[in-house]
Amino acid sequence: MTRPARFKGIAASIGVAVGPARVIGRERSGVSNRRIEEAAVSSELARFEQAVSKSRAEIEAAKQELTDRHGSTYAPILDVYLLMHADALLIGATSEAIRNDRINAEWALSRVTERLKKPLLEDASSYFQERARDIDHVQDHLLRHLRGEQRSEPATDGPTILIAHDLTPADAVHMLAPPTVGLVTEMGAGSSHTAILARTFGVPAVVGVGPLATEIEDDELVLVDGFAGDVTVGASPQERRAAEARRDRFTAFLAAERSTSAVTRDGVSISIMANVELPSEVQAALENGAEGIGLYRTEFMCLDRLEPPCEDDQLEVYRAVVSAMAPRRVVFRTFDWRGDKRLRAHDLGERERAWLKIQINAVLRASGDGSVALMFPMVSTLEEFLRARALVEECRSELSDERARLAELPVGMMVEVPSAALLAERFAQHADFFAVGTNDLAHYTLAFDRRDRRSAAKPLDPAVLGLLQRAITAATEADMPCSMCGDMAADPVALGLALGLGYRQISVPVSVLPLARAVVRNVDLEIAAEVARDALQCTSADEVREMVVERLDPHLGALWKEQGIV
Ligand code: PEP
Ligand code: MG
Repeated sequence: MTRPARFKGIAASIGVAVGPARVIGRERSGVSNRRIEEAAVSSELARFEQAVSKSRAEIEAAKQELTDRHGSTYAPILDVYLLMHADALLIGATSEAIRNDRINAEWALSRVTERLKKPLLEDASSYFQERARDIDHVQDHLLRHLRGEQRSEPATDGPTILIAHDLTPADAVHMLAPPTVGLVTEMGAGSSHTAILARTFGVPAVVGVGPLATEIEDDELVLVDGFAGDVTVGASPQERRAAEARRDRFTAFLAAERSTSAVTRDGVSISIMANVELPSEVQAALENGAEGIGLYRTEFMCLDRLEPPCEDDQLEVYRAVVSAMAPRRVVFRTFDWRGDKRLRAHDLGERERAWLKIQINAVLRASGDGSVALMFPMVSTLEEFLRARALVEECRSELSDERARLAELPVGMMVEVPSAALLAERFAQHADFFAVGTNDLAHYTLAFDRRDRRSAAKPLDPAVLGLLQRAITAATEADMPCSMCGDMAADPVALGLALGLGYRQISVPVSVLPLARAVVRNVDLEIAAEVARDALQCTSADEVREMVVERLDPHLGALWKEQGIV
């Protein structure tokens, strides 16, 4: 392959990294499937049990390392993998297959994991797709121990860019520390645990690049652009110097932007909150000046569990988050399992209704500890939202805890399904607030599958912008808060347009908070509003973007260029 070679993936953790490649996982051989004799069954079972216990010990050690480095709040990510090591459906079923089908442990394990993954992979939801990856990760650990292979160790000299087919979260804990300065994986999505860890540790990362590891040699120079999702291998000395300068500017920028304000050039304060998936991100949200949590994606606490945590366990998490953020507001979104949609408030089965009530009870009970709001995802009909509200009241009336019964709990909804945006005026009569999700809204409006990485669903498409305008206009007329928590708000170009459409509250990933504040300070709302008006008349998202870049350039150009955004 010629150099420089350029690859495109998903920008999973912002920042720029430059360094020699360290390719891991290439040494692993394929799975060897063998039938075994009756007499060999017990030794094969013992071999499997030993692999399970070594793998468990490895993940326990990673959990300890994570706790030592970042406190106990990070542990839940790895608890999931530990739970899977004791799971009858995975471990028990593998032993059974060894025993009943007389096959070796590697074969039995891959059969069982394929079976477990099948329904998850068939689901349209990226959440379930990611859960299938978790099963792969546990399988990777177990196979490594069955083969007696050692885990790759971080390089000992100088900064390196880790190149991997995939990285299990336990390995990520171990490897995403100096001297690793950047990460590139062939697999993965922005919502994978490994991507979350990369963001948490501040390691620029590009994931889901596709076949790559075979193309790169150890020590080849790699540039990672965690803003655009670009990976360059074998860059010229000039390109390398430019990337290094960009990296250094961004590091200095982050340090300088920690406690800046978010007031536009014409003096309007914009509220910038954080999107959070795990309690471990709360501290970083505070350190980066979040004015609250505009979107707490609670489904991340379910990870690979068969059912959500019990009310008291949820309460413990919610309370910790609410009191850490107090007096700032925390908006908990009820479980959003998308493709599955079982936990939408209409048409619920008995079991799902019970789960949703448990969650609402826990949020109500936590709401006395600070400022809390609750919202429902994927609301598509008025009836559904009214039922959701009624369910909150039902929970409230059944609670014996007087403080929770009296707690003020605004109940809002995501506007992320076109029907909700189209009827925004009517929804505004019943909801306490809107949080606009541009990710789903773009996909549903333009009829693209959210799983499709090459999907052309872009929030800057004029059709989506029209719906965004409907939502904010309806909210403003009803004098009701309306934030934007989809990724459009986190895009330093599109954010100018969101402000122009009238959005005054946004919620972005923690790592984007400083950049979002800097964008806001450089925006003149009058100009942004004119640009937004004209954008609605454009013919494509690309045309909109070009126009935004050109017209906001006089004020934002320097920042965009400095950070290499345009
Ligand atoms: C959205 O759809 O824009 C959103 C914020 O929700 P999620 O990304 O969690 O689906
Ligand atoms: Mg959504």
